[in-house]
Amino acid sequence: MDANKTGALIRRLRMEKGMTQRQLAQELLVSEQAVSKWERALGCPDTSLLRALADLLDADVCSILSGEMHVSRKDGGNMRRIRFYVCPVCGNVITAAGDARISCCGRALEAMKPAPCDDAHQLRLTPMDGEIHAAFDHSMDKTHFISFIACVGYDRVLLVRLYPEQGGETRLPYLPRCTYYIGCSRDGLFTFRS
Ligand SMILES: [Zn+2]
Ligand SMILES: [Zn+2]
Repeated sequence: MDANKTGALIRRLRMEKGMTQRQLAQELLVSEQAVSKWERALGCPDTSLLRALADLLDADVCSILSGEMHVSRKDGGNMRRIRFYVCPVCGNVITAAGDARISCCGRALEAMKPAPCDDAHQLRLTPMDGEIHAAFDHSMDKTHFISFIACVGYDRVLLVRLYPEQGGETRLPYLPRCTYYIGCSRDGLFTFRS
């Protein structure tokens, strides 16, 4: 996090919203001085506040962290409509950007229906060396593990396979305003937007 850029962005977005430092502080249950410090780069918002702060400012968490707003192209392509298919026999993960008939190991596969992330299926995202470090607390044993994490931008998909017994972390490329998907071997597909 670049405190100067993050602070300047918080200030700019807060003023665009017509909010005072006090109003923003009240929404976040922090002191007015805390907001003032962030904006003067004398401190950074606690990571537990980032999501609420981003929501209040109509920004994404990555933008708050990087201090930069990335504006997507207007002709947003089809990747936003991506679907995920997982073969129950071999574990193959297949994606399609539109309607498709997918089969594997002799079975037709149904597109997984993504649910909003719940407490058990969440990622903690931290910018690191121009990438995003993603960590999670979910179990990674053979019967119940995170089998993939995908991030979907307007024109690209990056899918990382994960395997039982490996640690609860991986690295993802930084994609502005992307949608994350978390595939659980037992509980299905979860999603959130950065
Ligand atoms: Zn298969
Ligand atoms: Zn699970």
